[in-house]
Amino acid sequence: MGLSKELVLPISKPSRGASGKTGTWRVFKPVIDLQKCVKCWQCWLLCPEETILADDVPTVDYDYCKGCGVCAKICPAKAITMVEERE
Ligand code: SF4
Ligand code: SF4
Repeated sequence: MGLSKELVLPISKPSRGASGKTGTWRVFKPVIDLQKCVKCWQCWLLCPEETILADDVPTVDYDYCKGCGVCAKICPAKAITMVEERE
């Protein structure tokens, strides 16, 4: 029996909203100021939930965003602010 020539690498990648809908228990949510955004897409690249959507401009899928604040932390233009959820 020969070895397969096809190399398959196990890459762990989170799926969008892997921990389910989080909009009901999120405490803070990211708000993007598109006037400041320079479209570097780092927020889209590094969001652990894949809930930054890359349309013409970055937008947040609030059904699945868990409010971790990673996007706000890494945004080089300081275009993302974490604001408290209101009922
Ligand atoms: S990281 Fe900041 S500047 Fe870059 S695309 Fe996201 S919101 Fe825009
Ligand atoms: S706060 Fe930002 S990084 Fe965290 S899940 Fe929401 S969109 Fe993604």
